[in-house]
Amino acid sequence: MPRLTSAAATHPGLVRAANEDAFHEGTYVLAVADGVGGLSAGDRASRLAVGALTALDEPRPYEQIEPLLRAAVETANQQIAEQLNADPAIGSAGTTLTALVFSDDHRALLAHVGDSRCYRLRAGQVDQLTTDDTFVQMLVELGAISAEQAHDHPQRSIVTRVLRGEPVEVYYAELLTEPSDRYLLCSDGLPAAAADDRIAAILTAEPDATRCADQLIEAALAGGGPDNVTVVVVDCAPLSD
Ligand code: CA
Repeated sequence: MPRLTSAAATHPGLVRAANEDAFHEGTYVLAVADGVGGLSAGDRASRLAVGALTALDEPRPYEQIEPLLRAAVETANQQIAEQLNADPAIGSAGTTLTALVFSDDHRALLAHVGDSRCYRLRAGQVDQLTTDDTFVQMLVELGAISAEQAHDHPQRSIVTRVLRGEPVEVYYAELLTEPSDRYLLCSDGLPAAAADDRIAAILTAEPDATRCADQLIEAALAGGGPDNVTVVVVDCAPLSD
């Protein structure tokens, strides 16, 4: 069973009055959710999303995780629908969700919808394991704009897929974890303010998960803190430990 060390940090940023991000930093379940919507509904939606995953936070073989995680995500989506039905004044609300559920056998299931992200540091290389469900990412994939242009695009905040009480396709991926892997879950407030190479440099240089999380928040604030920012850093223990 992998022994995980984790740390999480969140900050409203320097522009937004409220923090509508939510996270769960459990033993086996790590998640970030970024809520959108008026009347504090985004805040409630992101909390519903991470709250629905907390019951999964127990050691399990990988095969049991996928149906449970899919059901939990569906439950969260239904709860958001109920919240919207109960209070039509909200209009619309939703949340991203990017979550990792680790099994007891060196595997993990990644679930992702929206523009929060999961990165992995392995053997000195940082890879983004999720694809943003955004309008600008779609343009990048169509070849209409470059990744650099996407970063400053006026419509970069348009998210094409979130949990908002309607049927939605959620991305799931099985990960084979390796000793000394490091995973980062973050809301879009981090990449909005810090370039990928800056994020990678911090993930690579700072071995301590807590200090790493703090430095990522500092990097987002140094980049203007335009949005709420939440980070969850997870280290898999080396085999020798
Ligand atoms: Ca955000």
